[in-house]
Amino acid sequence: MIELTHLVLGPLETNCYFVRDTETGDLVIVDPAWYDPSLEGKVRAAGAGHVKGILLTHCHVDHIAGAAQLKELTGAPLWAPPQEKEFLTDPALSLAYMIPGGIRSFEAEYPVAEGKPLQIGSLSFRVLHTPGHTIGSHCYLIEDLMLSGDTLFFGSVGRTDHPTGNTAMIMQSVRRLAALPGDWRVYPGHGPETTMKRERLINPYLQ
Ligand SMILES: [Zn+2]
Repeated sequence: MIELTHLVLGPLETNCYFVRDTETGDLVIVDPAWYDPSLEGKVRAAGAGHVKGILLTHCHVDHIAGAAQLKELTGAPLWAPPQEKEFLTDPALSLAYMIPGGIRSFEAEYPVAEGKPLQIGSLSFRVLHTPGHTIGSHCYLIEDLMLSGDTLFFGSVGRTDHPTGNTAMIMQSVRRLAALPGDWRVYPGHGPETTMKRERLINPYLQ
């Protein structure tokens, strides 16, 4: 069974998700937004060795600022959208210039790719490329859970006015998510969780 918990991290209150396989104890951390004692404490409580990977929905600073330190703490490899390779070195793309002193740099060991099942330890994710908020924004599905990054929010969608943002693309992406059969428990990069059933009814971008 998959157990999902989260922390709200950093000045932009980003959701950092801990996805855990209760049978094996394997853990994947999605969007290490900010390295602080709450993140470090949660990792240590779970056992740093159980962290099999770090996964990014996209490479904006408020989703990656804790990645370098988290990699050091856990030794876990990191998966990131290949379309955003340059974000990791260009503060104008990642918006890291907004953080005084910038953020510590890190590397992505592996690219994610739609259509290719993503296996991290015992956890298997389905990968969807959902551009619009950024060129490489991705959503990750596991069991009935959808980690929607800054693509789909409770009652809204992500902004598209940062570099590589594209409004037509995000509209196409959220409609594609909504067209997936069945209901999904949706866990966005900011704000409360929702369900796809609810979003299909009330999200103005899906009407
Ligand atoms: Zn973002």
